[in-house]
This record gives sequence, structure tokens and C-alpha cells, in this order.
Amino acid sequence: MWKKYKKSPLHIKIIAGLVAGIIFAVVSSALGISQFTVDWIDPFGTIFIRALKMIAVPLVLFSIIKGITGLHDVSKLGRLGLKTILIYLVTTVTAVSIGLALVNTVQPGKLVDENQRIENRRAYENWVAQKDGVELIDGEQKVASESGEAVESKPASGPDLSDKMEQAKKQKEAGPLQFLVDMVPGNLFLSLSNNGLMLQVICFALFFGVCLLSIEKKYAKPVIDFVDGMNEVFLKMVDVIMKAAPFFVFALLAGVVSKMAGDDPGKVIEIFKGLGWYSLTVVVGLAAMVFGIYPLVLTSLKKKMSYKKFFKALGPAQMLAFSTSSSAATLPVTMECVNENLKVPKSISSFVLPIGATVNMDGTSLYQAVAVIFLAQFHMVDLTLGQQLMIILTATLASIGSAAVPSAGLIMLIIVLESVGLNPAWIAIIFPVDRILDMCRTVVNVTGDATVSTIIAQSEGELAKD
Ligand code: ASP
Repeated sequence: MWKKYKKSPLHIKIIAGLVAGIIFAVVSSALGISQFTVDWIDPFGTIFIRALKMIAVPLVLFSIIKGITGLHDVSKLGRLGLKTILIYLVTTVTAVSIGLALVNTVQPGKLVDENQRIENRRAYENWVAQKDGVELIDGEQKVASESGEAVESKPASGPDLSDKMEQAKKQKEAGPLQFLVDMVPGNLFLSLSNNGLMLQVICFALFFGVCLLSIEKKYAKPVIDFVDGMNEVFLKMVDVIMKAAPFFVFALLAGVVSKMAGDDPGKVIEIFKGLGWYSLTVVVGLAAMVFGIYPLVLTSLKKKMSYKKFFKALGPAQMLAFSTSSSAATLPVTMECVNENLKVPKSISSFVLPIGATVNMDGTSLYQAVAVIFLAQFHMVDLTLGQQLMIILTATLASIGSAAVPSAGLIMLIIVLESVGLNPAWIAIIFPVDRILDMCRTVVNVTGDATVSTIIAQSEGELAKD
């Protein structure tokens, strides 16, 4: 049996780890030793999350710069580039909005036991209190505003805590353009060392990439090679971590389920009831993109394209996306399908598709929006309209920053959670169902890229007849 397990593909191993973790937690809960699991197994889950967080910032930095330098020539950043990026942005924002509308209508996080949610709420409040406490003990400069400037600090003591928080809050609420100000790093190294300041990292990466393309080749070449190399190293790290994922998933699941169930295994059923509705909400949203939005766009083009034909043409790429969970791995097949079957000229597809694989992830952004709101609902945290708008912005940017590899969207979810002040460790809750949702959202990511390349070819008058 062990031999058979060793030979099986990673996603089967992850599912095995997942099931083993749940069984372990249920058994330890029934035996009344759930505390043992929390003390001795759960820390490995925390290590897994830390490792993923460690990679998130540099991965975003290098993959965005690489995406921009992939344009080769700054003059290409002209009409075609602008058009491509604009359409990509529109499809991504549409996807996030569909996700938000769906999750606010279905409210999957509320379809669980009320007492469970009250407990979750308490845990969330503890986390907030602990976080603020740790930040103050850790060092006096840690109550930093989003802009990266440290708020004037005094030594930590009781009454000062609320003063500091008040001050930081005020700074955050300062005026309608504050979000724009917050996107520009005041100190790059501070932004890099703080997951909550990822928007600033993205902003820097875009600026760096454009400037890198504008300088003399002899200076640019070594930097581009360096960025490519670094990108590969971080992708490899994701790869290595994912290889150990079955074990980590076991630890994560055992820990999460034990913490939630305590010594009453019946509570576990409640947890999965919640995840079922959440997964369904994501899948319905993804289906709305593939069977609703994209066909609508393609059939409204001047030179209408039958969606059946489109689907048939793109079938191999969609299948590969589903089985590999990676837009990057699927890219060569996507290009072939789009060139050969959809008759989009190479001059357009070779420019639009690689950028799309890096920056256009409609499925990922939709999933991130649903996941964040689901987790907030699950912990009885009401998000304001402002916070939901913030989610549109960060989920769009986080999906742009996600590498086209398995689980990248989950890593970037940490940033979306942090941007609205939620606990990034909550990704552990949705991890059990993430692989299957990753397979589905990657299909949407690839389909979105192909749709946009068809639109652009059509708008340039270069879509050949079959
Ligand atoms: N696996 C996805 C992709 O490659 C990214 C994600 O994790 O959402 O497109």
C-alpha cells in the first residue's frame, strides 16, 4: 500500500494527508486527547503557513518584474500593452465582483452552527488583542501605518496602547486618496519586511520593471537574468514545500479540526458543512465566468465566435489546466490552441498569453473574494462597504501578483486577509478543499487569457477566418 501511495500523484497524496489528518483529529477528540494534537501536531501546520508566507513577498516581487521584462521592448508597452492590461483588469474586476455578489447572497460562512461562530468570534478577538500586544512588546516602531511610516511611539504601557491604535487608525482613515498614498512605499525595505504592505511591493515591482526595460541593454541584461533566476528559485521553493505538503496538510488538518472540535467530535460535521457551501459558492462563481461572462463577450464581438467552437478549440488547454493546477505549465498548450484552433496570429498570442498567465487570473481573484468574505462570516466579522471595496482592489492586485503555479492563489490570500485586518492563519480552514478549487480556478484563468487574446486579435482586425 505504501508503494502504491509513493507512486501516486501529488494531489492524491494531499487528499490522503487530508483524510488522515481529519481521522486523527476525530479519534484524538473522541479519546479526549485533543490537547495532545494541538501541542504536538499542530505546530507543523504553523510551520507550513510560515514557510508559505516567507515565500510570498519575494515571489511577487520577482514574478511581476519578470512579467514586465517579458515585453522585451518598452515601445511595445504602447497601444497593445495598454489594451491588453486594460481588458485584463476589466475581466479580473468583473470576476471579483461576481465573487463578492455571490458570497454576500449565499452567505456560506453563516450556514454553520451559531455557537461555533460565536466561539470563532472569540478566537478572532483574542487574536486581535494578542497581535496588538505582540506588536507593542516586539519593538516600539511596530505600530506602523499602511504608508510605511512608523507612528510616533512611546514605550508600551496600558493606556498608551489605545492611544497608539487610535493614532494609527486615524492615519489610515485620512482622506479619500489615502489608499493611493499607501500604495507608494516610503521605505522599500519596510514594505518588503511586512506582509501587510504587499501593495507597495507590487507598486515598486511595476515601476522597477518598466525602468528596467528602459535602460541600455548591457545594463539591463544581467539584472533581467538575475530576476529570472531568482524567480525560478522561489518557484522551486513552492515546489519543494508542496512536495512535503501531504505531511503538512495532515498536521494542519489534525490541528485545525482538534482546535475546533475540542473533545467533542460531533463539531467536526459542522466544520465541513460550512466548507461544502463555501466550495459550492466558488464553483458556481467560476462556472458563471466560463459559461456566462466569456460566452457573452465572445458572441458580442463584431466577428462573432461560437462558444461551442471556442470550447472545442481550447479543450486540451482546459484539461491540462485542470490536471496540473498551473497556468504556467499549461501555457505552451494554450498558445498552440489559440494559434492553431482559434486562428489568433502568433504576433498577438505570444505577447498577450504569457502576460496573461502571469497577471490575468480571473478564477483566482473570484476565489479570493469568496474566501475572504466566507472566512469573515465564519468568524462573525462584518466587513464594511469600504473593506469590501478594499477586497476588490487587493484581490485584483493579489491575483496579478500570484504566480501561475499550484496553490499560489492560496498564498496570496494571506495578503488579502491582512489588508482588511483578518487573521492570515485562517487559510488553514479552507486548505482542505483548496486543491480541488485550485484545479477549477486554473481552468478559468486559462480560459480568461484565451478569451482576451481573441478579443484583442479581433479588435486589431487580425482574427483569421477558419
Ligand atoms: N494555480 C493557479 C494558476 O496557476 C493559481 C492559483 O493558485 O490560483 O493559475
